[in-house]
Amino acid sequence: MSVEEKKIFLASPRGFCAGVERAIEIVEISLKLFGAPLYVHHQIVHNRHVVEKFSSRGVIFVDSIEEVPDVAHVIFSAHGVSPQIKIRSIEKKLEIIDATCPLVTKVHLEAIKYSQDGFHILLIGHKNHAETIGTFGEAPDKIHIIENCRDIESMEFPPDTKLAYLTQTTLSISDAKDLITALKIKFPQIQSTGSTGICYATTNRQEAAAKIAQEVDVVFVIGSQNSSNSNRLKELAEYLGKPAYLIDDESNIYPDWISGNIRKIGVTAGASAPEELVTRTVNRLRNEFQFTEIEEMKIKEENIVFKLPQELLRSAQFEHRKRT
Ligand code: SF4
Repeated sequence: MSVEEKKIFLASPRGFCAGVERAIEIVEISLKLFGAPLYVHHQIVHNRHVVEKFSSRGVIFVDSIEEVPDVAHVIFSAHGVSPQIKIRSIEKKLEIIDATCPLVTKVHLEAIKYSQDGFHILLIGHKNHAETIGTFGEAPDKIHIIENCRDIESMEFPPDTKLAYLTQTTLSISDAKDLITALKIKFPQIQSTGSTGICYATTNRQEAAAKIAQEVDVVFVIGSQNSSNSNRLKELAEYLGKPAYLIDDESNIYPDWISGNIRKIGVTAGASAPEELVTRTVNRLRNEFQFTEIEEMKIKEENIVFKLPQELLRSAQFEHRKRT
């Protein structure tokens, strides 16, 4: 087979979603307005490169609000925080800038509404994921986290209990569907808002990854190990029978992965992975391994943009007026 036949299929949409774009812009603007050190509760988005770049510019990422000095500026990451962290931030007189993705906030609001209406909420998500921890905090005595079918099997409620389910935004669509089906069978009275909480970006990236996975011999997912939606893309490609690797960047590629009969490589990126890393990966595959043909397989246009937080816009306007 000739060298020219080696080909890369690029999934589209891939990479940054509107929530990640917004969170990163919030840190950029805050750095300009307030300077370093600037504190961010949790990684602003789950990507090593993004976090390292901001760290080098004086952003300090903390996993506990207690690590932030009183009266400092603190940004809440795109994954959202529990009300307990908000309360503690107010007690510490912190200047809060909330970069929670509006689609995560939507899930929080649904959890609050259901709990106020007397429902127990079955939250499908990963127990240790920042987003699920934050949502759980909205009603810890009413929310029950479900990770798998075993959790559903072991769960019991009296038949007249009002139940509703919600989901983390970055789950596998098919796993969530299976769990929702199991919930409906076990608890026929269970209610929902009509759609899962899985966001548009997660859905589109999984559909695009599934399309390229059908065409290729191996799939590379660019994203960090702690990125939930990136891990789901890798699992999806594997489920479709293709070897798949989650890589932070092009330097993680082992030549063995693409030796022998590998002629077609699929490349996608999780919602928190910068496009620059896709370019670098494609360049290495092209220059070092002669995958010279490139085809983008676009399944959908994305043009969603989320507004910046009002408090940040007000601060920016205030600073602008001071200078002019
Ligand atoms: S993956 Fe979805 S929920 Fe998460 S930041 Fe992006 S748009 Fe928001």
